[in-house]
Amino acid sequence: PMGVCPAATMSLLRDNFTGVLRPWARPEVLTCTSWGAPIIWDGTFDPDVAQQKAGQKNLTIGLTVFAIGRYLEKYLARFLETAEQHFMVGQRVVYYVFTERPAAVPRVALGPGRRLRVERVARERRWQDVCMERMRTLHAALGGRLGREASFVFCMDVDQHFSGAFGPEALAESVAQLHAWHYHWPRRLLPFERDGRSAAALAPGEGDFYYHAAVFGGSVAALRELTAHCARGLRRDRARGLEARWHDESHLNKFFWLHKPAKVLSPEFCWSPEIGRRAEIRRPRLLWAPKEYGLLRD
Ligand code: UDP
Ligand code: MN
Repeated sequence: PMGVCPAATMSLLRDNFTGVLRPWARPEVLTCTSWGAPIIWDGTFDPDVAQQKAGQKNLTIGLTVFAIGRYLEKYLARFLETAEQHFMVGQRVVYYVFTERPAAVPRVALGPGRRLRVERVARERRWQDVCMERMRTLHAALGGRLGREASFVFCMDVDQHFSGAFGPEALAESVAQLHAWHYHWPRRLLPFERDGRSAAALAPGEGDFYYHAAVFGGSVAALRELTAHCARGLRRDRARGLEARWHDESHLNKFFWLHKPAKVLSPEFCWSPEIGRRAEIRRPRLLWAPKEYGLLRD
């Protein structure tokens, strides 16, 4: 389905963070969901207005990232250096790096109003467990200092780097990222967990979009709920000897099916260069690193 959704025009026009959206500027792509949430594409918002509006709100925006095992040396420096260039420039930002080796975190020069905090976490043996444990750790952090100092938070994978402005146009009560490999697939083929025994299961016909766990965000309260839901589902599955198809991402997709995101980011916000050129992908904001699992995962 393409084009502007007229039912949503009123809510699009009232977006808190971008002011007036221009969904008609991108008639070739879907710019709103069936429940009236904007899908943010390049050209549908004015970045200067978004920056100005966010500045007036005097926000602190959190950015969490896990860098455990070899992911730390391989990705963290570039992720943080490019975040300094592109992530919420002009806003107050607090990075939260979760790692088992705080001393190995690279010293990145930070701009004014930007801070970096390092939190020690235990290293899980299996990479799947590293990924899944993030939900429990984030839930605790959001209930602690991170939750007190930030108003909105983005949670991201470290195996990517910023390549364009990722600003306050991405902020909302809850934010989901369209998965670059799946945004144009028919719904019934999307890789949701379908095993009805799993807490992450979606029945046939369920699921709006396939969202990427490499980027999600929202208010502290919304993310407390999201992380609690996912951590609970992961725990239940484990107790029954189950592991959802795409681990924490499957549970995230279940959450966003039950609690529709207030804003959806187009695949321009987290793009995989391996897909190649696509006419509708104008200016990628994050680029995935090539998958080198052989080097990274035991
Ligand atoms: N991660 C990590 N160490 C690991 C496995 C995962 O730090 O051994 C973190 C890291 O932030 C990574 C994220 O968990 O980006 C998700 O894992 P990965 O990127 O390998 O999953 P994929 O994107 O391939 O599904
Ligand atoms: Mn990743």
